[in-house]
Amino acid sequence: MTVFRTVRGMRDFLPEEAKMMKYIEGRARRVAQLYGYKEIITPVVESYELLAAKAGEEVRSRMYAFKDLGGRKVALRPEFTASVARLVATTLRNEPKPLRLFCVGSLYRYDEPQKGRFREFWQSNYELMGSSKPEGDAEIIMLTNSLMKSVGLKNCVFKVGHVGVLRGVLNQENVEEKVQNEIMQLMDKKQYEDALKIVENAGTSEKCLVILKKLVEIKGSKVSQVLRKMKRQVEGYGRAVDAVENLREILKLVSETGEKIDMVIEAGFARGLEYYTGMIFEVYVPEMDIALGGGGRYDRLIELFGGEPTPAVGVAHGIDRIMMAMQKQKIPLRTEEEKTVMVIPVKEELKGEALKISRMLRGSGILVEVEVMGRRVTKALEDADRRKMDYAVIVGERELKEGAVVIRNLKRREQKTVKIERIVDMIKG
Ligand code: AMP
Repeated sequence: MTVFRTVRGMRDFLPEEAKMMKYIEGRARRVAQLYGYKEIITPVVESYELLAAKAGEEVRSRMYAFKDLGGRKVALRPEFTASVARLVATTLRNEPKPLRLFCVGSLYRYDEPQKGRFREFWQSNYELMGSSKPEGDAEIIMLTNSLMKSVGLKNCVFKVGHVGVLRGVLNQENVEEKVQNEIMQLMDKKQYEDALKIVENAGTSEKCLVILKKLVEIKGSKVSQVLRKMKRQVEGYGRAVDAVENLREILKLVSETGEKIDMVIEAGFARGLEYYTGMIFEVYVPEMDIALGGGGRYDRLIELFGGEPTPAVGVAHGIDRIMMAMQKQKIPLRTEEEKTVMVIPVKEELKGEALKISRMLRGSGILVEVEVMGRRVTKALEDADRRKMDYAVIVGERELKEGAVVIRNLKRREQKTVKIERIVDMIKG
């Protein structure tokens, strides 16, 4: 007989991990509320054209794409931004701006499975539509920091850059957008030499090549110092200088909030997705060399999808990777401990009574499991013990005649007879 396993790259989440994933999702949803982002739910299956338009070659080549039974070319979403941009270009076209939207769910990329890289993974995603101002960019960074803090992660570092710096130089050198995208893809993978080779072949000036070579080496955590260096380097490239200025304004606003956020500014930083036009960033913890989240500004995507010109900035956080980081930093979940109870009928005829008592307890918000294996009381108690439950309610004939049951405190190994109407008070303490 065939033994079925998960498909390569797909995972099952058992209760402990599922609980953690849902906990992080809950935190992300709370952060969305705190910042005024309204949740939307978009389909997992979208048109291939939409998803492919600006995803970048790296993501595009790894899409789960197929024809549905109606012959439509579709794909499983590899990211959320295209779907949200589609909505803002169509159904939400006339919504007043700013529009703050949040979504959470699973995404699909046919990546080579490895640590922290899965074919099915989860993201919380936030998009701020309609603002071109640096305070919009600052908000997205702040919100990411809030989420990291909210799940208890320590020592987060933000890697920050601005695609307008590199693109500003390349534009002025008349490098075609398609070629620029190739260059950015290689930069994203830190293949700087290959990237510079393409720049050279694109017929750019000698000066440009020298500038780019130096630019990719500029990075550091002293924000104003790094920005100064960047600006000096791109002198004469107007748009690139503007981009550095824009980044300065964004980071100034972030620092003015009073929140201390560790940052590394990298002039040669690029991200795989093609739609970015401005500030870009990723967030890391020291224990892992892969990003927990990333985002940036994309001012032209909605227009590209046929909507009104709408500046936008957003971020996606990898829930799976946040979970890995929490495990590495040994961060416990901050959930309220709720009491768990097992209700055990002493004999067959009392099953109905046991179910009735369970119903009453659940009605008062107590977590109840009923003995359903027909086991004797001692066996059922052993099981409840093994599973670290708090109480057992033993339903016996003698006590029931008096309108009572036996409650056993499984942690303290004590038990007493209690009137049925008093059970809830006793357990809730
Ligand atoms: P991106 O959409 O590529 O900007 O990714 C945003 C975040 O999603 C990353 O920082 C990761 O945390 C997460 N992520 C992206 N791809 C994967 C993957 N294949 N497996 C797990 N998490 C991923």
